Amino acid sequence: MTKGRIFSGIQPTGTIHIGNYIGAIKNWVALTEAYDCVFSIVDYHAITIDYDVESFQESIMNAARTLIACGLNPEKCRLFIQSRVIEHTELAWILNCITPLGDLERMTQFKDKSKQHRENINVGLLDYPVLQAADIMLYKSTAVPVGEDQIQHVEFTRRISRRFNGKFGKTFPEPKWLLSSTPKILGLDGKAKMSKSLNNDIGILERPDDIWEKLRTSVTDENRKRLKDPGDPKICNLYTMHTSFSPDDVVTDVADQCKSASRGCVDCKKILFENLMKELAPIQAKAQELEKRPDEISDILNDGASKCSETAKEVMEEVRGKMKLAG
Ligand code: ADP
Repeated sequence: MTKGRIFSGIQPTGTIHIGNYIGAIKNWVALTEAYDCVFSIVDYHAITIDYDVESFQESIMNAARTLIACGLNPEKCRLFIQSRVIEHTELAWILNCITPLGDLERMTQFKDKSKQHRENINVGLLDYPVLQAADIMLYKSTAVPVGEDQIQHVEFTRRISRRFNGKFGKTFPEPKWLLSSTPKILGLDGKAKMSKSLNNDIGILERPDDIWEKLRTSVTDENRKRLKDPGDPKICNLYTMHTSFSPDDVVTDVADQCKSASRGCVDCKKILFENLMKELAPIQAKAQELEKRPDEISDILNDGASKCSETAKEVMEEVRGKMKLAG
Protein backbone atom coordinates (compact mmCIF):
# COMPACT_ATOMS: atom_id res chain seq x y z
CA MET A 1 0.00 0.00 0.00
CA THR A 2 1.59 3.33 -1.08
CA LYS A 3 0.84 6.76 0.37
CA GLY A 4 -0.32 7.95 -3.07
CA ARG A 5 1.09 8.91 -6.43
CA ILE A 6 3.78 11.46 -7.01
CA PHE A 7 4.67 13.34 -10.17
CA SER A 8 7.60 15.70 -10.59
CA GLY A 9 9.74 16.90 -13.48
CA ILE A 10 13.03 18.50 -14.33
CA GLN A 11 13.98 20.48 -17.43
CA PRO A 12 16.86 19.21 -19.58
CA THR A 13 18.34 22.69 -19.98
CA GLY A 14 22.03 23.01 -19.16
CA THR A 15 23.45 21.00 -16.30
CA ILE A 16 21.47 19.85 -13.29
CA HIS A 17 22.67 21.92 -10.32
CA ILE A 18 22.91 21.55 -6.56
CA GLY A 19 19.70 23.63 -6.14
CA ASN A 20 17.80 20.97 -8.12
CA TYR A 21 19.55 18.28 -6.10
CA ILE A 22 18.77 19.69 -2.65
CA GLY A 23 15.41 21.24 -3.54
CA ALA A 24 14.02 18.29 -5.47
CA ILE A 25 16.06 15.25 -6.54
CA LYS A 26 17.25 14.12 -3.10
CA ASN A 27 13.65 14.24 -1.97
CA TRP A 28 12.53 12.27 -5.06
CA VAL A 29 14.95 9.47 -4.18
CA ALA A 30 13.64 9.25 -0.61
CA LEU A 31 9.98 9.36 -1.70
CA THR A 32 10.31 6.34 -4.01
CA GLU A 33 10.25 4.19 -0.87
CA ALA A 34 6.71 5.19 0.15
CA TYR A 35 4.94 6.53 -2.97
CA ASP A 36 4.15 5.35 -6.49
CA CYS A 37 6.49 7.80 -8.24
CA VAL A 38 6.46 9.17 -11.79
CA PHE A 39 9.42 11.38 -12.73
CA SER A 40 9.84 13.14 -16.04
CA ILE A 41 12.50 14.93 -18.02
CA VAL A 42 10.24 17.71 -19.23
CA ASP A 43 11.56 18.54 -22.69
CA TYR A 44 8.36 20.33 -23.79
CA HIS A 45 8.88 22.77 -20.91
CA ALA A 46 12.50 23.33 -21.91
CA ILE A 47 11.59 24.51 -25.42
CA THR A 48 9.64 27.50 -24.07
CA ILE A 49 12.94 29.40 -24.14
CA ASP A 50 15.53 29.47 -26.95
CA TYR A 51 17.57 26.27 -26.70
CA ASP A 52 20.45 24.63 -28.49
CA VAL A 53 18.78 22.23 -30.93
CA GLU A 54 21.96 20.31 -31.81
CA SER A 55 22.84 19.38 -28.23
CA PHE A 56 19.25 18.90 -26.98
CA GLN A 57 19.18 15.09 -27.15
CA GLU A 58 22.51 14.95 -25.33
CA SER A 59 21.11 17.26 -22.61
CA ILE A 60 18.12 14.94 -22.19
CA MET A 61 20.34 11.86 -21.85
CA ASN A 62 22.61 13.77 -19.52
CA ALA A 63 19.66 14.67 -17.30
CA ALA A 64 18.59 11.00 -17.17
CA ARG A 65 22.13 9.87 -16.30
CA THR A 66 22.45 12.51 -13.59
CA LEU A 67 19.14 11.56 -11.97
CA ILE A 68 20.11 7.90 -11.83
CA ALA A 69 23.61 8.77 -10.60
CA CYS A 70 21.97 10.83 -7.80
CA GLY A 71 20.34 7.63 -6.58
CA LEU A 72 17.03 7.48 -8.44
CA ASN A 73 16.35 3.78 -8.87
CA PRO A 74 14.37 3.12 -12.08
CA GLU A 75 13.10 -0.12 -10.58
CA LYS A 76 11.33 1.85 -7.87
CA CYS A 77 9.80 4.56 -10.07
CA ARG A 78 8.88 5.45 -13.65
CA LEU A 79 11.40 7.71 -15.36
CA PHE A 80 10.55 8.99 -18.83
CA ILE A 81 10.83 11.81 -21.35
CA GLN A 82 7.68 13.97 -21.38
CA SER A 83 7.30 14.27 -25.19
CA ARG A 84 7.22 10.46 -25.55
CA VAL A 85 3.81 10.37 -23.87
CA ILE A 86 1.66 12.41 -26.21
CA GLU A 87 -1.29 12.68 -23.84
CA HIS A 88 0.55 15.42 -21.88
CA THR A 89 -0.14 17.95 -24.63
CA GLU A 90 -3.63 16.61 -25.26
CA LEU A 91 -4.65 17.16 -21.64
CA ALA A 92 -2.89 20.53 -21.64
CA TRP A 93 -5.13 21.69 -24.50
CA ILE A 94 -8.23 20.63 -22.62
CA LEU A 95 -7.06 22.41 -19.47
CA ASN A 96 -6.31 25.53 -21.54
CA CYS A 97 -10.00 25.74 -22.23
CA ILE A 98 -10.87 26.01 -18.54
CA THR A 99 -7.97 28.30 -17.56
CA PRO A 100 -8.63 32.04 -17.10
CA LEU A 101 -5.94 34.04 -18.93
CA GLY A 102 -5.47 36.28 -15.88
CA ASP A 103 -4.32 33.30 -13.77
CA LEU A 104 -1.38 32.75 -16.13
CA GLU A 105 -0.46 36.42 -16.49
CA ARG A 106 -0.14 36.65 -12.70
CA MET A 107 2.43 33.84 -12.40
CA THR A 108 5.74 34.98 -10.89
CA GLN A 109 7.77 32.64 -13.08
CA PHE A 110 6.12 34.01 -16.23
CA LYS A 111 6.87 37.57 -15.15
CA ASP A 112 10.52 36.69 -14.34
CA LYS A 113 11.10 34.72 -17.51
CA SER A 114 9.45 37.40 -19.66
CA LYS A 115 12.05 39.83 -18.31
CA GLN A 116 14.90 37.37 -18.89
CA HIS A 117 13.81 36.43 -22.41
CA ARG A 118 12.38 39.69 -23.77
CA GLU A 119 13.21 38.68 -27.34
CA ASN A 120 11.13 35.49 -27.11
CA ILE A 121 8.00 35.93 -24.98
CA ASN A 122 6.06 33.12 -26.63
CA VAL A 123 2.65 31.64 -25.78
CA GLY A 124 4.35 28.50 -24.43
CA LEU A 125 6.10 30.58 -21.76
CA LEU A 126 2.72 31.89 -20.60
CA ASP A 127 1.08 28.48 -20.88
CA TYR A 128 3.85 26.63 -19.00
CA PRO A 129 1.77 26.14 -15.80
CA VAL A 130 -1.07 24.55 -17.81
CA LEU A 131 1.27 21.94 -19.29
CA GLN A 132 2.67 21.40 -15.81
CA ALA A 133 -0.86 20.92 -14.45
CA ALA A 134 -1.49 18.40 -17.24
CA ASP A 135 1.76 16.55 -16.34
CA ILE A 136 0.60 16.22 -12.75
CA MET A 137 -3.08 15.47 -13.40
CA LEU A 138 -2.47 12.93 -16.18
CA TYR A 139 -1.30 10.48 -13.51
CA LYS A 140 -3.94 11.56 -10.99
CA SER A 141 -1.02 12.53 -8.76
CA THR A 142 -1.75 13.29 -5.14
CA ALA A 143 1.56 14.99 -4.29
CA VAL A 144 4.27 16.95 -6.11
CA PRO A 145 7.76 17.26 -4.58
CA VAL A 146 9.19 20.63 -5.69
CA GLY A 147 11.39 23.53 -4.67
CA GLU A 148 9.80 26.69 -3.28
CA ASP A 149 9.71 28.37 -6.72
CA GLN A 150 7.10 25.88 -7.91
CA ILE A 151 4.52 26.23 -5.12
CA GLN A 152 2.52 28.76 -7.12
CA HIS A 153 2.28 26.34 -10.04
CA VAL A 154 1.09 23.48 -7.84
CA GLU A 155 -1.50 25.80 -6.28
CA PHE A 156 -2.66 26.58 -9.80
CA THR A 157 -2.91 22.85 -10.55
CA ARG A 158 -5.13 22.42 -7.50
CA ARG A 159 -7.44 25.17 -8.78
CA ILE A 160 -7.62 23.66 -12.26
CA SER A 161 -8.34 20.18 -10.86
CA ARG A 162 -11.16 21.66 -8.79
CA ARG A 163 -12.52 23.50 -11.81
CA PHE A 164 -12.40 20.39 -14.01
CA ASN A 165 -14.11 18.29 -11.35
CA GLY A 166 -16.77 20.98 -10.85
CA LYS A 167 -17.59 21.21 -14.56
CA PHE A 168 -17.30 17.59 -15.66
CA GLY A 169 -17.56 15.44 -12.52
CA LYS A 170 -15.04 14.20 -9.97
CA THR A 171 -11.99 13.00 -11.88
CA PHE A 172 -8.76 14.41 -10.41
CA PRO A 173 -7.37 14.62 -6.88
CA GLU A 174 -6.13 18.02 -5.66
CA PRO A 175 -2.40 17.44 -5.39
CA LYS A 176 -0.39 18.90 -2.52
CA TRP A 177 3.19 20.13 -2.78
CA LEU A 178 5.98 18.50 -0.80
CA LEU A 179 8.99 20.65 0.07
CA SER A 180 12.46 19.38 0.93
CA SER A 181 14.20 20.61 4.07
CA THR A 182 16.03 23.21 1.91
CA PRO A 183 13.46 24.26 -0.67
CA LYS A 184 15.43 27.25 -1.95
CA ILE A 185 19.11 27.70 -2.67
CA LEU A 186 20.24 31.05 -3.99
CA GLY A 187 22.70 31.34 -6.83
CA LEU A 188 26.38 32.22 -6.40
CA ASP A 189 25.45 35.89 -6.66
CA GLY A 190 23.51 35.43 -3.37
CA LYS A 191 20.50 37.20 -4.91
CA ALA A 192 18.38 35.24 -7.43
CA LYS A 193 17.53 31.57 -6.91
CA MET A 194 20.11 29.18 -8.30
CA SER A 195 18.95 28.37 -11.81
CA LYS A 196 20.30 26.75 -14.95
CA SER A 197 19.13 29.66 -17.04
CA LEU A 198 20.69 32.37 -14.83
CA ASN A 199 24.24 31.06 -15.05
CA ASN A 200 24.68 31.34 -11.26
CA ASP A 201 24.77 27.64 -10.47
CA ILE A 202 27.06 24.80 -9.42
CA GLY A 203 26.48 21.82 -11.68
CA ILE A 204 26.40 18.42 -10.00
CA LEU A 205 28.82 17.03 -12.58
CA GLU A 206 31.21 19.98 -12.74
CA ARG A 207 34.96 19.45 -12.27
CA PRO A 208 36.07 19.92 -8.64
CA ASP A 209 38.48 22.72 -9.64
CA ASP A 210 35.67 24.61 -11.33
CA ILE A 211 33.35 24.08 -8.36
CA TRP A 212 35.98 25.46 -5.98
CA GLU A 213 36.57 28.48 -8.20
CA LYS A 214 32.82 29.20 -8.20
CA LEU A 215 32.54 28.78 -4.42
CA ARG A 216 35.67 30.85 -3.77
CA THR A 217 34.26 33.83 -5.62
CA SER A 218 30.65 33.45 -4.44
CA VAL A 219 28.84 36.13 -2.43
CA THR A 220 28.43 35.63 1.37
CA ASP A 221 26.97 38.00 3.97
CA GLU A 222 27.97 41.32 2.39
CA ASN A 223 28.27 43.00 5.80
CA ARG A 224 31.43 40.93 6.41
CA LYS A 225 33.79 43.21 4.55
CA ARG A 226 36.82 42.44 6.76
CA LEU A 227 37.82 39.30 8.63
CA LYS A 228 36.98 40.88 12.00
CA ASP A 229 33.43 41.87 10.97
CA PRO A 230 30.88 39.45 12.47
CA GLY A 231 28.45 37.90 10.01
CA ASP A 232 24.90 36.60 10.08
CA PRO A 233 24.62 32.97 8.87
CA LYS A 234 20.86 33.43 8.40
CA ILE A 235 21.47 35.72 5.42
CA CYS A 236 24.45 33.81 4.01
CA ASN A 237 23.68 31.45 1.12
CA LEU A 238 26.87 29.50 1.82
CA TYR A 239 25.55 28.72 5.28
CA THR A 240 22.35 27.35 3.69
CA MET A 241 24.56 25.09 1.61
CA HIS A 242 26.42 24.00 4.77
CA THR A 243 23.10 22.92 6.29
CA SER A 244 22.57 20.66 3.27
CA PHE A 245 26.05 19.21 2.85
CA SER A 246 27.97 19.47 6.15
CA PRO A 247 27.50 17.33 9.29
CA ASP A 248 25.44 18.93 12.09
CA ASP A 249 28.42 19.68 14.37
CA VAL A 250 30.20 21.48 11.52
CA VAL A 251 27.04 23.48 10.75
CA THR A 252 26.90 24.62 14.41
CA ASP A 253 30.61 25.48 14.43
CA VAL A 254 30.59 27.53 11.23
CA ALA A 255 27.53 29.46 12.42
CA ASP A 256 29.23 30.30 15.76
CA GLN A 257 32.50 31.20 14.05
CA CYS A 258 30.71 33.44 11.56
CA LYS A 259 28.80 35.29 14.32
CA SER A 260 31.96 35.77 16.41
CA ALA A 261 34.14 36.55 13.36
CA SER A 262 36.60 33.86 14.47
CA ARG A 263 36.71 32.25 11.03
CA GLY A 264 36.83 34.00 7.68
CA CYS A 265 34.59 33.30 4.70
CA VAL A 266 37.33 31.67 2.59
CA ASP A 267 38.04 29.07 5.30
CA CYS A 268 34.32 28.49 5.72
CA LYS A 269 34.06 27.93 1.95
CA LYS A 270 36.94 25.41 2.06
CA ILE A 271 35.06 23.34 4.64
CA LEU A 272 31.90 23.52 2.54
CA PHE A 273 33.83 22.51 -0.59
CA GLU A 274 35.22 19.41 1.16
CA ASN A 275 31.78 18.30 2.36
CA LEU A 276 30.11 19.12 -0.93
CA MET A 277 32.65 17.02 -2.84
CA LYS A 278 32.17 14.12 -0.40
CA GLU A 279 28.56 14.00 -1.59
CA LEU A 280 29.17 14.83 -5.27
CA ALA A 281 32.23 12.62 -5.96
CA PRO A 282 30.34 9.27 -5.88
CA ILE A 283 27.56 10.82 -8.02
CA GLN A 284 30.11 12.02 -10.57
CA ALA A 285 31.79 8.59 -10.64
CA LYS A 286 28.44 6.85 -11.19
CA ALA A 287 27.50 9.28 -13.98
CA GLN A 288 30.80 8.60 -15.75
CA GLU A 289 30.18 4.88 -15.48
CA LEU A 290 26.65 5.28 -16.91
CA GLU A 291 27.98 7.32 -19.83
CA LYS A 292 29.65 4.13 -21.08
CA ARG A 293 26.26 2.35 -21.20
CA PRO A 294 23.91 4.62 -23.20
CA ASP A 295 21.68 1.68 -24.21
CA GLU A 296 20.87 1.03 -20.57
CA ILE A 297 19.59 4.60 -20.16
CA SER A 298 17.54 4.37 -23.38
CA ASP A 299 15.96 1.11 -22.15
CA ILE A 300 15.05 2.68 -18.80
CA LEU A 301 13.45 5.70 -20.54
CA ASN A 302 11.56 3.53 -23.05
CA ASP A 303 10.25 1.31 -20.29
CA GLY A 304 9.19 4.38 -18.26
CA ALA A 305 7.40 5.90 -21.28
CA SER A 306 5.51 2.73 -22.09
CA LYS A 307 4.31 2.32 -18.47
CA CYS A 308 3.29 5.99 -18.34
CA SER A 309 1.46 5.72 -21.68
CA GLU A 310 -0.75 2.99 -20.25
CA THR A 311 -1.89 5.18 -17.35
CA ALA A 312 -2.16 8.26 -19.60
CA LYS A 313 -4.39 6.50 -22.12
CA GLU A 314 -6.76 5.28 -19.40
CA VAL A 315 -7.04 8.72 -17.81
CA MET A 316 -7.59 10.44 -21.17
CA GLU A 317 -10.33 7.97 -22.04
CA GLU A 318 -12.07 8.89 -18.80
CA VAL A 319 -11.56 12.63 -19.48
CA ARG A 320 -12.93 12.39 -23.04
CA GLY A 321 -15.91 10.42 -21.75
CA LYS A 322 -16.70 12.92 -19.00
CA MET A 323 -16.47 15.82 -21.47
CA LYS A 324 -18.57 14.02 -24.07
CA LEU A 325 -15.68 14.21 -26.52
CA ALA A 326 -16.26 10.49 -26.87
CA GLY A 327 -19.59 8.69 -27.22
P1 ADP B 1 15.72 25.44 -13.11
O1 ADP B 1 14.89 26.42 -12.31
O2 ADP B 1 17.15 25.44 -12.70
O3 ADP B 1 15.51 25.55 -14.60
P2 ADP B 1 13.79 23.24 -13.05
O4 ADP B 1 12.74 24.23 -13.40
O5 ADP B 1 14.08 22.15 -14.01
O6 ADP B 1 15.16 23.99 -12.70
O7 ADP B 1 13.42 22.65 -11.63
C1 ADP B 1 13.52 21.28 -11.24
C2 ADP B 1 13.22 21.17 -9.76
O8 ADP B 1 14.28 21.77 -8.99
C3 ADP B 1 11.93 21.89 -9.33
O9 ADP B 1 11.26 21.09 -8.35
C4 ADP B 1 12.42 23.16 -8.71
O10 ADP B 1 11.52 23.67 -7.72
C5 ADP B 1 13.73 22.72 -8.07
N1 ADP B 1 14.67 23.84 -7.97
C6 ADP B 1 15.15 24.55 -9.02
N2 ADP B 1 15.99 25.50 -8.59
C7 ADP B 1 16.06 25.41 -7.23
C8 ADP B 1 16.77 26.12 -6.21
N3 ADP B 1 17.58 27.12 -6.49
N4 ADP B 1 16.59 25.74 -4.93
C9 ADP B 1 15.76 24.71 -4.62
N5 ADP B 1 15.06 23.99 -5.54
C10 ADP B 1 15.20 24.33 -6.84
